[in-house]
Amino acid sequence: MNIRIQQLGKRFGAFPALDGVSLDIHSGELLALLGPSGSGKTTLLRALAGLEPPDHGRILFDGEDATTLSVQARRAGFVFQHYALFRHMDVRANIAFGLEVRRGAARWPKARIAARVDELLALVQLEGLGARYPAQLSGGQRQRVALARALAIEPRVLLLDEPFGALDAQVRRDLRSWLRALHDRTGLTTVFVTHDQEEALELADRVAILHRGRIEQVGSPDEVYERPASPFVYGFVGEVNRLPARRAGAGLEVAGAHWPGPLRLPAEDPLEVYVRPHDFQVGEAGDWVGTLLSVQRSGGRSRLRARLQPAGVEVEVELPPGAPPYRPGQNVALVARRHGVFARPAAAEPPARGPEGDV
Ligand code: ATP
Repeated sequence: MNIRIQQLGKRFGAFPALDGVSLDIHSGELLALLGPSGSGKTTLLRALAGLEPPDHGRILFDGEDATTLSVQARRAGFVFQHYALFRHMDVRANIAFGLEVRRGAARWPKARIAARVDELLALVQLEGLGARYPAQLSGGQRQRVALARALAIEPRVLLLDEPFGALDAQVRRDLRSWLRALHDRTGLTTVFVTHDQEEALELADRVAILHRGRIEQVGSPDEVYERPASPFVYGFVGEVNRLPARRAGAGLEVAGAHWPGPLRLPAEDPLEVYVRPHDFQVGEAGDWVGTLLSVQRSGGRSRLRARLQPAGVEVEVELPPGAPPYRPGQNVALVARRHGVFARPAAAEPPARGPEGDV
């Protein structure tokens, strides 16, 4: 099922939790909603589920207006971070719950429910654990039961809100690849909320990046990482150096270097040039001479800190394995093989930070 979100808005008091969000979710894709705490991810997911009525805008499921449909009529499966299973029910009963509560003509015979539970236990690789109670399962197993329960009703879309958020790092990583494999088998349209960049980039077909109730960019993991559309995305997905810049004819002066252009530049001035550490190249000749302040090697990669001359701007540089053994104090030539140019914020705005870095 494809989902079209059009100009969705939601306020809590005066606070705009969703501020004109439009997004197309393709049928069968695994889309991550990525953003810092408070950016509106959960509100958007709840609006999709029918748990949070939007103030304005529309949600279309396969072209039909679903904005006012009930939770049940949407046939969405959910898994939340702390989605408590029913403690007094064993795993089988937990998984069967959504089928057991059906009444009338919609109700399946016992044998069909039992067969579906067997199928789901196999799908989430928990065969043999059907008679256990939630307290007898690990955190990761519990979330797999929660997922089986969400899948039992044959949902049209799967909505996952930080489903692995409470688990430790290794279990999280294992469940991530497991979920990806499960998604590839079921082909179900899936929306996955996370504030963890690595999780989003590793797991998703496409990533929608939210910031202050708005979508900053939607694209494949490679697109949002390699071609960030805004200063926020640069800072939130990966690392970035910010270099002061101003217009110079058709080009730019960037931390003391002249880029002749013509360049496509924003209308504003002054500007900033954004360069990821691995997008610097070190060679014989370059735009800048950088004095190396520190050199670290880890796992074959080299991490350099350099002061660009004569501007005095300090940058982080990451070089792939095989780079020569540079030494602190040495002067090297640097070029940026990829960059972004944006207006410099008027106030001294702190750069976008990673998870939990925003309000
Ligand atoms: P997190 O990663 O911390 O869960 P999030 O991106 O999912 O954050 P939301 O839960 O969607 O963010 O919240 C967006 C904003 O709306 C936050 O500032 C939050 O405090 C506010 N908010 C959410 N639900 C309510 C509510 N029921 N009443 C008032 N404010 C709310």
